[in-house]
Amino acid sequence: MKFYRKGSQAPFQGPTDWFTGSVSVQPLFPQNEPSRMTGGHPHFQPGARTAWHTHPLGQVIIVTSGKGRVQRWGGPIEEIKEGDVVFFEPGEKHWHGAAPDSAMSHIALQENVDGKNVDWLEQVTDEQYCGAAPYRSNEVCGERPPRQEERL
Ligand code: MN
Repeated sequence: MKFYRKGSQAPFQGPTDWFTGSVSVQPLFPQNEPSRMTGGHPHFQPGARTAWHTHPLGQVIIVTSGKGRVQRWGGPIEEIKEGDVVFFEPGEKHWHGAAPDSAMSHIALQENVDGKNVDWLEQVTDEQYCGAAPYRSNEVCGERPPRQEERL
C-alpha cells in the first residue's frame, strides 16, 4: 500500500504549449510498475482547455466540479458536468476543458506506454472552442445579448 496524501504534491501550471488559458494540475499518483496507470486532477478556469491530443491507451476523465466541454475530432462539442465520466478511445484525437462561463475540474486516469501517456497536437482555436450555436453566446466567444434597440 502506498499513500499520496492531500497536500503532499505541489500543483503545477499547465504549460502554454499544451493548454490555452489558466490550468492548474494537481498530481495524484505516478506510474507504479507493473501498473501502467497514472492519475492527475487538472482545474480549468473558465475558457481554459487542453490542446488537441491523443492517448496511446485511452483516458478516463471523471468531472469533480463545474461545467466543461469535450470534443473528438470531427464530432460535436459535448457539455460535461460534475459526476460525468468520459472514456476517450486509444488514439482518439480530442480536447477537454472548462465551459466559457464556468470553471471545471476532472480526475484524469491514463496509462503509460514506454513512459508516455499523451501525444500533444495543435492548440484548440477560439473558433473550434466556441463551436456553433447555442455555444457562442458568452463573453469568451465574442457574442453578446442583443441591445435594447436591436430587439424592437
Ligand atoms: Mn485527454
